[in-house]
Amino acid sequence: MRRYVLVTGGAGFIGSHICKALHLSGFTPVALDNLSTGHADAVRWGLLVETNVGDLEKVARALETYRPVAVVHCAASAYVGESVSNPQQYYENNVLQGLALLSACLQTRTLNVVFSSSCATYGACEQPLIDETTPQTPINPYGRTKLILELALEDYAMAYGLRYVALRYFNAAGADPDSELFERHDPETHLIPRALMAASGQIDALDIFGTDYATPDGTCVRDYVHVSDLADAHVAAVRHLEGGGGALRLNLGTGMGHSVFDVLRTIETLTGRSVPFSVGPQRAGDPAALVADPRQAQRMLRFSPERSDLRTIVSTAAPGFGLRMRP
Ligand code: UDP
Repeated sequence: MRRYVLVTGGAGFIGSHICKALHLSGFTPVALDNLSTGHADAVRWGLLVETNVGDLEKVARALETYRPVAVVHCAASAYVGESVSNPQQYYENNVLQGLALLSACLQTRTLNVVFSSSCATYGACEQPLIDETTPQTPINPYGRTKLILELALEDYAMAYGLRYVALRYFNAAGADPDSELFERHDPETHLIPRALMAASGQIDALDIFGTDYATPDGTCVRDYVHVSDLADAHVAAVRHLEGGGGALRLNLGTGMGHSVFDVLRTIETLTGRSVPFSVGPQRAGDPAALVADPRQAQRMLRFSPERSDLRTIVSTAAPGFGLRMRP
């Protein structure tokens, strides 16, 4: 008998990697996606249901049809900068539509939910490593909308018996090591893809958003985690819920921070290409450093991010931008 897992945003960058990991683990993924930013040709390991996450009737019908063992909820607007300039889109897509999805889950008694949350829920932290007890005080609308859904899950779990795992991603990066999936955002705003675009001549130069942060080299420090490692953590979370495990809120990161200049240097070393850049002002909503304490996820889900060193991240992402590794 097939064990379905419904993956909202399953045609997107992270969602499609999750669908592949689910398939490799014996599940049948059902990608639920409105294809506004996702790609139908990234749905290669299961089925596609084309709809908005907030369409209660259609989503409930999909849940009734497939009776999934869990819903993995990835669909969201996910750009920090954009969330500051257009918060309405974030509250509508991430909060309103997310709550409608939860209503469809309750209505159909689909009670296992894995939620894509974010380190952006922590805001600007003083401490070097962020653990799950660190207060969540987001400093941008994106982080706030993710936190609101986490809180709804907590309340729904208490009241309605919903069971959930909230996975707080640090910086998802890299791409499928088998080169079957690549990062394809339009517009692309993330650091590693943009730096690769600069290295390959697709853009003139990378804008570095601030070199005046209180960090060792003045640029922001982030904890980059390979998208296939993230995907494996979702499979482990589905299994945890399937096995009757209780609510979890977990960081998915490596415990290692890398600055913008660290990323540029790694790209230059691995590809032999220079990354032209210019230095601009800080981007609104960006905290100086976000690095996970990943021990809780290691303990609870056996999360071991084996592909998340910067070299593997860059070498798996680079082919998507037409770049080869130096021999
Ligand atoms: N960044 C940058 N130039 C860019 C894109 C990003 O300097 O064109 C910086 C950004 O300020 C942040 C880091 O790179 O400190 C990672 O940003 P990204 O957008 O990749 O992820 P986020 O941390 O916003 O989720």
